[in-house]
Amino acid sequence: MKPKSHLFYQTRSRRPVLAEARGVYMWDVDGKRYLDGSSGAMVSNIGHSNPRVLEAMRRQMEKSTFGYRLHFETEPGERLAAKVAALSPEGMEKVFFVSGGSEAVESAIKLARQYAVTVGQGSRWKVISRNPSYHGSTLGALALTGYAPLADPFLPMMQAMPKIPAPRAYLDGLDMDDQATGAHYAAMLEARIIEEGPETVLAFIQEPVGGASTGALVPPAGYMQAVREICDRHGVLLIHDEVMSGGGRTGKFMAAEHWGVDPDIIAISKGFGAGYAPLGAMIAHDRLIDPVLDAGGFQHGHTYAGNPLACAAGLAVLEEIESGELMGNAARIGALLKARLANLMQRYGFIGDVRGEGLLLAFELVADRQTMQPLPKELNAYVELVELAYEQGLIIYSRRTRGGIDGDHFLVCPPMIVTEGQVDEIIDMLSAALDKFA
Ligand code: PLP
Repeated sequence: MKPKSHLFYQTRSRRPVLAEARGVYMWDVDGKRYLDGSSGAMVSNIGHSNPRVLEAMRRQMEKSTFGYRLHFETEPGERLAAKVAALSPEGMEKVFFVSGGSEAVESAIKLARQYAVTVGQGSRWKVISRNPSYHGSTLGALALTGYAPLADPFLPMMQAMPKIPAPRAYLDGLDMDDQATGAHYAAMLEARIIEEGPETVLAFIQEPVGGASTGALVPPAGYMQAVREICDRHGVLLIHDEVMSGGGRTGKFMAAEHWGVDPDIIAISKGFGAGYAPLGAMIAHDRLIDPVLDAGGFQHGHTYAGNPLACAAGLAVLEEIESGELMGNAARIGALLKARLANLMQRYGFIGDVRGEGLLLAFELVADRQTMQPLPKELNAYVELVELAYEQGLIIYSRRTRGGIDGDHFLVCPPMIVTEGQVDEIIDMLSAALDKFA
């Protein structure tokens, strides 16, 4: 009989016990090796056990591991904030540290609301988001999340926010060029703002390159720019949830840089702490922060936020990304991996789409590539293929969600240090899993 375990996660299913992890590889206690093909949950962007980060954390631990933010400023916190501000759009120079993605999103919507109240726009409170989307598991962030199975049980406990469709043109079967597609989906935002009453709409939040909810959805041409213009036209703040897409994985520090669009507020986490420490940040434009601070301060905060150990880790992660030119590697190897995944479409007719930017990549399984009809739910593909890959020693990340419609997509997002040889390994193990699945 197995010893009773007191640990519990989301379900009863259990996983191997992790023994150690180095670079892109992880080993369980039985000595089996896994290639971390999803960087955990798109977190371990610089790989595991990076010596620079371990050393920076060790040095910081010897100095101090905690200084409460209302009692002390810390040097790692100040240095990390300066570095993040330098990597953020012009004018976005204020950085508010948190310990994860949900906290970063909560901070973003609460800052937006407090700003509106402070400048006499208290009628604005609705935050429009997209369907599907994922913005976090705390009740505020969940109210924005466009995924009914996660949100519905909690609806009586929160104020659900208005949703518009994410630009999933590949599913909607639109007969339009990319530019017209971008305009088509952006127009839905404007229509919704008008329907809700612009004077009630506080903000629009989107993932510039989609994460787990859409499977690395890349916006169509002109969409990002049109969204910015629509928000400006109606006095609506634009929030970019870069929790997964930020931090360099797409080849730029913020994914929105690919389209040259600056939001008013940004949420980052995941690859920012890169698995070394719970770390996230909300970055906002000075014109939002200054009135709030002048009026007495931001009515929000978390106890562990900005602790020096997490900040020292985050700083070393950014130094590693810069010195190793890892964003360039993410762009270069990402293009190679995407092409190799697209090649698999010739061999496996049930791969319906391959998409993404840099090393934020996904493929989707379908019953019919023409109609994009999903595989039958009973096949449980999003679980089965992950298990088959696991057997091969490859970790990938999956979801069965397309918003209203079901569908199986898989994120292939190895750390930004991945080599061409390791791309071969990923494709070999994935092909072996797909052979068994077919
Ligand atoms: N926003 C996005 C885009 C995410 O992908 C996630 C996590 O997957 C979150 C927010 C929530 O982050 P966390 O799980 O750290 O609270």
